[in-house]
Amino acid sequence: MLLEKRVFEHRRPILSVVVPCYNEVEVLTHTRARLDRVLKELVGVECEQIYVDDGSTDGTWQVIDRLARQSDSVRAVKLSRNFGHQSACLAGLREASGDAVVLIDADLQDPPELIPEMVALWWDGWSVVSARRRSRAGETLFKKASAYVFYRTLNLVSDHPLALDTGDFRLLDREVAALLGETTDKNAYLRGAVSWLGFPETGVAYDRESRHAGESKYTLRKMLELSRRGLLAHSSVPLRLPAYLGTIALAGGLARAAVRRDVRLLAGPGAFGAQALALGIVGEYLQTVLRQVQARPAYIVERRIGATAPCLRAEE
Ligand code: UDP
Ligand code: MG
Repeated sequence: MLLEKRVFEHRRPILSVVVPCYNEVEVLTHTRARLDRVLKELVGVECEQIYVDDGSTDGTWQVIDRLARQSDSVRAVKLSRNFGHQSACLAGLREASGDAVVLIDADLQDPPELIPEMVALWWDGWSVVSARRRSRAGETLFKKASAYVFYRTLNLVSDHPLALDTGDFRLLDREVAALLGETTDKNAYLRGAVSWLGFPETGVAYDRESRHAGESKYTLRKMLELSRRGLLAHSSVPLRLPAYLGTIALAGGLARAAVRRDVRLLAGPGAFGAQALALGIVGEYLQTVLRQVQARPAYIVERRIGATAPCLRAEE
């Protein structure tokens, strides 16, 4: 692939780092310190950090608010309630003024030390640089196994190729970030949308550490919601599945009825199961369509602290 090196002749490029936070009071000052240390080393790049409080209840906002008031290079955005990780990322993307945007988790499971490598690849002309998890420390067997199976299944049934073993830790060129920010999808599954956009993408591999502190904020319910978004938005297989199952159930029923010469055998638990499943799947899509038709915003911003104009340098 022929890539053009990025050139900024008249000004220093800006890098925005977006950090979605939900009840992360225990880690935030460490996160800020580690990000500062890494961003300081990016010579010739202006950096801003945008912390999005996704409706925390543990004092996260107070910390973010203080960080933003202490430094011009930090901005704080407070959502009015917990809208979920994807919406928090989307909010941060829309606030970002950078020529490139990095999405990174607050809990230091995504090592900030990878950012310079990502920036170097962006510099070489890549529009998307994803961080791929080589290993995952400190996660439950259930989490590791379910993630492994989910990403592989989704890739198998998805209508377009999706990156394996990547979360949302990635660098996006401004063009891609802006396109993502324009989405009106109320069921946004950002990592899938990035692949769908189809810009030149490369990856860097890393070993995922345990959380610096606190516990995972991705409850089983949130994990299920994320997988449902991924599956419904990027694959048409679930919608077609009822037709396949219905055909099989009907063929089975017909064969049984023919062999035993009894039409009543056309009905039965198999046929009922296929119908119920079909209805269930249609229900899932209806819910997705309903959310879209309701046209509510994906999140509501309650407050913002810090400069809104692009300017910002990493602290010297
Ligand atoms: N997060 C969020 N809103 C939520 C849940 C999580 O903004 O409703 C943030 C969280 O603070 C963290 C990131 O999303 O920065 C990933 O969450 P977590 O580390 O709990 O997930 P895990 O790494 O266990 O999958
Ligand atoms: Mg985590």
